[in-house]
Amino acid sequence: MNSAIPENSTAAAQEIHTGKTFERYKELVVLVNKYNTQYHEGNASDISDYEFDMLNKELRELEAEHPEWVNPETPTQKVGGKVKREVGMTVTHRVPMLSIQDVFTQEEVVEWVRKVKSVHPDALFSVEHKVDGLSMTLRYENGKLMLAETRGDGFVGEDVTLNSTVIPDILQEIDVQDYLELRGEVYMSRADFEKYNEEQEELGKKLAANPRNLAAGSLRQLDPEVTKRRRLKMFVFNVQDGPDEFMNNHTKGLARLASLGVHVVHHKLCATEEEVIEEIDKIGNSRGDYEYDIDGAVVKVEQTTYRAEFTAGSKYSAGHIAYKYPPEEKETELIDVELAVGRTGKITVTGILKPIRLCGTTVQRVTLHNQDFINEKQVGIGGTYLIYKSGEIIPALKEMVKPPQTVYKIPDVCPVCSQPTVREEGMVAIKCVNPLCPATLVRSISFFTSRDAMDIKALGETYIQTLVDNGYLHSYADIYHLKDYRDELIEKGLIGKEKNTDKILQAIEKSKENDPAKLLTGLGINNVGKSTAKAIMRHYSSIFALAEAMVEDLTGIPDVGEITAKSIVDFFSDPTDKAVIDDLIKSGVNIKVRTEASNTSNALGGKTFCITGTFSSMGRKEIEALIEKNGGKVSSSVSKKTSFVVAGEEAGSKLDKANELGVAVLTEEEFLALVQKPEA
Ligand code: AMP
Ligand code: ZN
Repeated sequence: MNSAIPENSTAAAQEIHTGKTFERYKELVVLVNKYNTQYHEGNASDISDYEFDMLNKELRELEAEHPEWVNPETPTQKVGGKVKREVGMTVTHRVPMLSIQDVFTQEEVVEWVRKVKSVHPDALFSVEHKVDGLSMTLRYENGKLMLAETRGDGFVGEDVTLNSTVIPDILQEIDVQDYLELRGEVYMSRADFEKYNEEQEELGKKLAANPRNLAAGSLRQLDPEVTKRRRLKMFVFNVQDGPDEFMNNHTKGLARLASLGVHVVHHKLCATEEEVIEEIDKIGNSRGDYEYDIDGAVVKVEQTTYRAEFTAGSKYSAGHIAYKYPPEEKETELIDVELAVGRTGKITVTGILKPIRLCGTTVQRVTLHNQDFINEKQVGIGGTYLIYKSGEIIPALKEMVKPPQTVYKIPDVCPVCSQPTVREEGMVAIKCVNPLCPATLVRSISFFTSRDAMDIKALGETYIQTLVDNGYLHSYADIYHLKDYRDELIEKGLIGKEKNTDKILQAIEKSKENDPAKLLTGLGINNVGKSTAKAIMRHYSSIFALAEAMVEDLTGIPDVGEITAKSIVDFFSDPTDKAVIDDLIKSGVNIKVRTEASNTSNALGGKTFCITGTFSSMGRKEIEALIEKNGGKVSSSVSKKTSFVVAGEEAGSKLDKANELGVAVLTEEEFLALVQKPEA
């Protein structure tokens, strides 16, 4: 193994004065940038990889201690000249971080054990947890942790040394003076994972799919403080390189490490094929009880010198195999079916089960998807079904074991408002489309008050929910009647005390003056979002005029297709919707387009623009407004349909994309020449 470390290091690092000063920090930035460039340009480097690693580590340590020093030039913030989001410069592994050949049956395990034994009758085997996390290698030099690296493609990974310092399982110092390289698995406990997701849910943020993904994301955070909060852990499962007494016999090495305080992976030394299978079964039977996920058991030849003879190819660690357990499944009875209406009107069907334990959690709910699924699996109350966890996380119903008396039929009315439900053509989902259904009401009102629509920030979703629950809102038009209940609302304190209630009522009043395009957006007509609404209202003098439009009139507007046109016509001919519009008009909500003819033009009519970078004469929002004022459309991404990309300073990937697709690119000046200048 290539463990040569320069002993008489004459590195640039040593030539220059050391010490934790700002001067030293600035030097390091320059040096690392220089060697980094050499490396990326494929030039011979002035220093060894090891010396480079040391400079890098010193730089990172200084940045961790003095975040106030970090400047935009630092190589930790960019790679190859581009700003990079993740931590980590790439590092070439000294010992490749290989995969393990998988087997899926116990017969294959036995066969492999026999093969090894036929060559080496004294071979022993270590049977271990295959912890489901991500692989990391730690390099120790003179007893100090020098580098922590992720696996990457097995040959080149990322430097995560700084983040490794906030993982308590990782020893920063170890009582071994020789070079030592350890490999292990970084993981997150199920409990910490669930806690994280609960917090995310409370904050209304995205949930992580599984502990492994979350651990990987956490390790590659730019900010070690974030990594620290995620409470990562680590088990060491291999000595990659080091003194013989650590290397020769695998489990002896692990035992020595354990005595030095290293957290080593669960392992059992086995002499016979029976013992190997017994341990595999034992691990499999209790795998739900561990505090972390495992995705198999690894079997390794104990005597490392024998390993090279048993290889499955250059991708795989020699002398290793991984047995993958079949997904855990259990039978249980379906005791009830629960229907719920999501805020989009979609009806969800959930089976309630007699509770079972699966992969470490209690399972009592399983999705029944839709009527097709229910029929196919013969799902009904009283039946028994085989349940498993798909992707080891989400409970799923696999098949019927004992049939129910009757197969469940999803009712064809909404469980909340009892109006008939619809199944859209070609779709399996069933929906409640009653615009006044209380289940969808909060959502439609929140949409009406949202920024792109009537923009009434003061009236947030929580208040809307309260007002719906207390019977004050039955449609979005009702918000304009709230002022009639001012005293009552204040008395009940539903939307705050006097001051807050008045603030909200004022904001609602003010919204009456909005441009009718905002009102049109707020109506929530299918396919009519903010920019389509704007385009439409350029062609009609009022919502009133729009309500009279026919499909043919509407399709004449760029951006409006047949489907959108039909949604609009349907909307204005629906009696319930009509009544709501009448109500809005009676309340004095503005439906007329203000004529600002002198101020608008159609110079950019029919053209789509995408904006990227920063501009010297105005902000992006102003450029957007200018495009729209001149009849153009703004899109957030570049496609073949984009007419122009307006590129300012530091334009990024959108500019590359434009060049790639051959989309015309305009500079700020070129763009301004096309449009009416904004008034000074
Ligand atoms: P795979 O990538 O599926 O071929 O599996 C190999 C991975 O299993 C390695 O990269 C390790 O990260 C992981 N692993 C987890 N536990 C162990 C263990 N006890 N021994 C070896 N590898 C392990
Ligand atoms: Zn309903």
